[in-house]
Amino acid sequence: MAKLERLVLQGFKSFKRKASVPFPSGFSVVTGPNGSGKSNIGDAISFVLGKTSSRLMRAKKSQELIFHGGKKKGGSEYAIVTLYFDNHDNNLPLPEKNPSISRRINQKGVSTYRLNGKVVTRQQIVDIFAQAGIHHDGHNIIQQGDVTQIVEMDAVERREILDEISGIAEYDDKKKKAEKELEKIDDKVKEAEIILNEKVQIIEKLKTDRDAALEYKKAVDNLDKIRNASALKSYDEAEKGLEISSKKIEEKEKQFEALEKEIKELDGKLEKEENALETLTKKVLKASNNIEITKKIERLRSNIEITKDKIISRRSEIDRLHDMIDRIQSLSIGRGASPAIKDLLKMKGVCGTFANLVSVPGDYATAVEIAAGGHMSDVVVDSTGTAVKCVQYLKSNKAGRARFIPLDKIQSFKKGNLPKDAIGWLSDLVEYSPRYSAAIKYVLGSTACVKDIEIAKKISSTQRLRMVSLDGDIMEASGAITGGYFKRRLKTTADTTDYVKEKAELEKEIEKLEVVLRSYNKDLEKYADEEVGTETTNFERERVKIDERLKRIREKRNEAYEDRVELQQTIGKLNVQRARWEAKHDGFRVNLEARTKRKEKKDIEKEVEEFMKMPSSKLNEMETNLVERIDLMGPVNMKSIDDFETIKEEFDDFKEKVDKIVTEKNSILETITTIETKRLTTFSATLTEVSKNFKTVYRELTGGEADLELEGENDMNTGLLIKASPGGKKLLNIDSLSGGEKTLTAFAFLFAIQRHKPSPFYILDEADAALDEMNTRKIVDLIKKQSKLAQFIVISHNDTLVREGDQIYGVTMDDGESKILSIELPKDLRGKAN
Ligand code: ATP
Ligand code: MG
Repeated sequence: MAKLERLVLQGFKSFKRKASVPFPSGFSVVTGPNGSGKSNIGDAISFVLGKTSSRLMRAKKSQELIFHGGKKKGGSEYAIVTLYFDNHDNNLPLPEKNPSISRRINQKGVSTYRLNGKVVTRQQIVDIFAQAGIHHDGHNIIQQGDVTQIVEMDAVERREILDEISGIAEYDDKKKKAEKELEKIDDKVKEAEIILNEKVQIIEKLKTDRDAALEYKKAVDNLDKIRNASALKSYDEAEKGLEISSKKIEEKEKQFEALEKEIKELDGKLEKEENALETLTKKVLKASNNIEITKKIERLRSNIEITKDKIISRRSEIDRLHDMIDRIQSLSIGRGASPAIKDLLKMKGVCGTFANLVSVPGDYATAVEIAAGGHMSDVVVDSTGTAVKCVQYLKSNKAGRARFIPLDKIQSFKKGNLPKDAIGWLSDLVEYSPRYSAAIKYVLGSTACVKDIEIAKKISSTQRLRMVSLDGDIMEASGAITGGYFKRRLKTTADTTDYVKEKAELEKEIEKLEVVLRSYNKDLEKYADEEVGTETTNFERERVKIDERLKRIREKRNEAYEDRVELQQTIGKLNVQRARWEAKHDGFRVNLEARTKRKEKKDIEKEVEEFMKMPSSKLNEMETNLVERIDLMGPVNMKSIDDFETIKEEFDDFKEKVDKIVTEKNSILETITTIETKRLTTFSATLTEVSKNFKTVYRELTGGEADLELEGENDMNTGLLIKASPGGKKLLNIDSLSGGEKTLTAFAFLFAIQRHKPSPFYILDEADAALDEMNTRKIVDLIKKQSKLAQFIVISHNDTLVREGDQIYGVTMDDGESKILSIELPKDLRGKAN
């Protein structure tokens, strides 16, 4: 620790001449009469340490610090005070082991500081001392009358003493710096946040617009996709339709070609046969001597051909009518007939059901239906052989049963005499082909038709026969009567009547034609016999063969022609169908191309994939909904999508900057907190230590209890309270302590601090003034003990204390001028107090 070795002063206050005061050891005492200049020595030390307030050095202005002379003497020009230090332990931040620091003040009040003789600034001096814990206004310099100040001072000021000795000033500086930075950055943050807020509002508004635009865009896109999908579907459908109809046409055209080929072949054969026939005819003509006969024969042959053709034509007409009747009747009578029976009707030799073969005028329909009864559905066949075949067919197909009327075997009933009141025999009242006359007569031949049952009754009294009335009552030959209301089953008899009639007429005509044909053939045979002998007979045989072949070929060709006509019609229809598809296909293609701006089909398919799986109805529904939704959206700002992106980017950049500033601010706040924490930790450690010392020293001095406490718990910004209760007394309000008690408390505080962090020297100017003998003793003991750690320069009038000094200086005032004498006390007086 730096040690004050010597004080040299000249012209300072009452010291005119140069005086040198050595401080060789720890405990120096200065004594002397009142007004001799003792306190001026303390002032001189404070003066060098940089004290600026002349008032605190008890002068009105700084010039008053210069010796002003007395009544007789002239004053000094200037005052100069120099302090010499021992700095072997480098406590003062100076390289010199024995540095000197001086301050000079002239009459103008100008101060000059020197370090080892070199001029320096006051601040340099203050800084150098501060580093060694020496301050001109430090707690280690207790001016005269100021000892109790520590007890009486403001609690916050007192705490500041702890601040100083704990060294938290370092943190204060740092904190101040950080707070300044914080202030700056806080302004920046506030400014940035205002801008950020504005930007947020802008961006939020824009976002709303953008969201609406995006939704609109999505809806429009979807609508477009749905429409594209619909267009694509229609197009695909048309394409498929076109393909199918083209394929069908191709197929049918192939069939048509084959048919054409067949017809051509048949034509070829026909031509060949006709040529053969012509050749044969020529041969016959040639062979024939009798041209006339030959001509007749030719004519006959031509007539025969014509007649045959007529018969064929009538037969085909009969077949057509037969089919028509069948169709009509199959809607009623045939309704119940099994498919097998229907099949039977198509078999060779099967003429039809009884009902099919008879045509009944409307008036007799009921009478016939009743009289025929079950026979209505009897199957009329040409022969017993056919009947047997039919029965076998039904059996093998398990197709039920039927009754057959074979025309070759059936016995018709003989009619008796028709009573005069009867309308007629039923068989005469209906119409039918003569071919079926046996069947008709078998079923209806024995039944007479009468107007009503009354007539029947009348007839039955004279004649026994089967009678049926027009409304369906029946009287058997035995006299049994069946009757009542009858609901006609057949409504169709009348409907088919015309066809049956026509058919019967045609059949009659065929019969006539066949008679004519037979007579032609007979004539032909006759002329042929006349015309030639054996040779012509051979020719004729040959011709018959050719005729047969020709007939077959013609039949085949006719069939082929019919097929061709049918095929042509089919192809025609298919062409129409294909043309329709083609038109649709073109339309849909144009639509699709216009919609998709000629995009590749596979690209469109990919785009609308999700919609292609949906049925068209669903797509239509979705389209309607979307159109409605888009309508409801009203106008949207599409530009907002791009604008939003741009503004958002700017915003994000800005936000990033703001975040950086905020982070920086937080880091400063953190630093401040860390500083605060360290500051508090350091301060608390000092407080704990000093409090502990204070308690100890106080107990030593007074035997009482004392403590130091912060006004606010753990709040180092509040004041430091002293609590003290001298031995045996209740803890008192500090103000109520006596002067001596206050002095003891102040000393306890001073030493508590000194034990924690000793200053290099202490100047105590009459601090013991208020103490009694015993307490002075205690203080002296403490000073002696503590002076091993630091220098004590004690100004006192108290002999008890003076005697204990390691060296004693006497100050005298002579002729207005102070002088210092080193006093050697006799040994017996020294340390008497001990
Ligand atoms: P006490 O025991 O009463 O405290 P002291 O020894 O401490 O007395 P000081 O206060 O040191 O006395 O000295 C005061 C004396 O110094 C006064 O007599 C005063 O006139 C004198 N003095 C103060 N300033 C000057 C000055 N500029 N020139 C000459 N003498 C001065
Ligand atoms: Mg004094």
